[in-house]
Amino acid sequence: MTSDPKKSKIRAKFRKNHQPRARKGDLTRDYEEHGFDEEATTYTERISGKGDLTRHKTIIGDHADENTSGFAVHLHVDEEHCLAGRVLSVHGLASVVETEDGQRFQCATRQLLKSLSTDQRHVVAAGDRVLFRAENETEGLIERIEPRHGVLSRTSKGRQHVIVTNVDQLLIVVSAAEPTLKPNLIDRFLITAEKAGIRAVICINKIDLVDPADFQPLIGVYGQMGYQVELVSAETGFGIESLKQRLEGMETVLAGQSGVGKSTILNQVEPGLDLRVNEVSSDNQKGRHTTTAAVLLPLSIGGYVVDTPGIRQLELWDVIPEEVAGYFRDLRPYINHCRFPDCTHTHETLCAVKDAVADGLLDTRRYDSYCQLITPEG
Ligand code: GDP
Ligand code: ZN
Repeated sequence: MTSDPKKSKIRAKFRKNHQPRARKGDLTRDYEEHGFDEEATTYTERISGKGDLTRHKTIIGDHADENTSGFAVHLHVDEEHCLAGRVLSVHGLASVVETEDGQRFQCATRQLLKSLSTDQRHVVAAGDRVLFRAENETEGLIERIEPRHGVLSRTSKGRQHVIVTNVDQLLIVVSAAEPTLKPNLIDRFLITAEKAGIRAVICINKIDLVDPADFQPLIGVYGQMGYQVELVSAETGFGIESLKQRLEGMETVLAGQSGVGKSTILNQVEPGLDLRVNEVSSDNQKGRHTTTAAVLLPLSIGGYVVDTPGIRQLELWDVIPEEVAGYFRDLRPYINHCRFPDCTHTHETLCAVKDAVADGLLDTRRYDSYCQLITPEG
């Protein structure tokens, strides 16, 4: 690899199940249109029909961090002929991409991207920022996926399944009553946010049903750790303006158990939202995974909310017990002072975390929540 970060020829390993392109003549067109290196053309012709185990080809791009981008390579594409957009949803091989001015395109993904992907099943994910080539007013071809941040994923059968990318924050919705507030559930969602490296905002809804003063101690505990807490009533509209300011220009994932008022809140924030949800899905043939796949809902104030049944329950529990304390912002400062490096902070003597609880430096309820979370049923 040359030292010029702008344009480098790099050797990229291709998946062994890479399929040669079906249509002849595309290779030359690719080269002319996209400026791929000549060697790429030669290479692709050479491999067609052969069953090599590993293949390499030279393409133009930069090495990228596979862990955050899902790609080993950041491709150089002809940016002048491409449009920038955001992937609102993915249905099988087709992605709904929205440009900044609100135009929507059904996009396929170019083969080269699929070949370079570290997980071919999920080359493109909801939330991705992409460069695509418009083929007509409604269809296009995704040429490049920009590096990702804030990836929410889960591991199933040993493979990482990306649910949504470029998430700025997780809005943890709970209700002050009906159903009763479960602080442990907040703690659990906070771990997800900490692990993904995204901001968490705690939203306590149905505040009209209680005396807000009763919640001050809880708000204090989270506030001290640096988490933002919003008190709202989707019923009366209380706190909705403040919440809107939090959502403005952000990609926000909503999490929270059923019945806490997520739909009601969203309708307060954006009354036309339901209509738009339908628009997105009617553009597409309904795939098997439509109900669990993430869908970005654009807000008229700018930004997106991601609200899907699959994400609501947030079955993203890939955290191992040993990691949990590190994701508890209040416990974290103490864990390096324990006598044993593999201290679980439960039964051990000479545990700095337990000392902190005994000294009143740590909130007892948070500590109990930690203990519950690291047990197998937690
Ligand atoms: P979701 O399952 O989280 O989407 O919850 P919904 O939005 O469907 O709301 C569940 C129930 O709570 C509905 O009957 C709503 O009318 C009610 N609800 C939602 N927000 C509030 C609120 O702020 N105050 C009160 N009293 N009820 C609310
Ligand atoms: Zn300890």
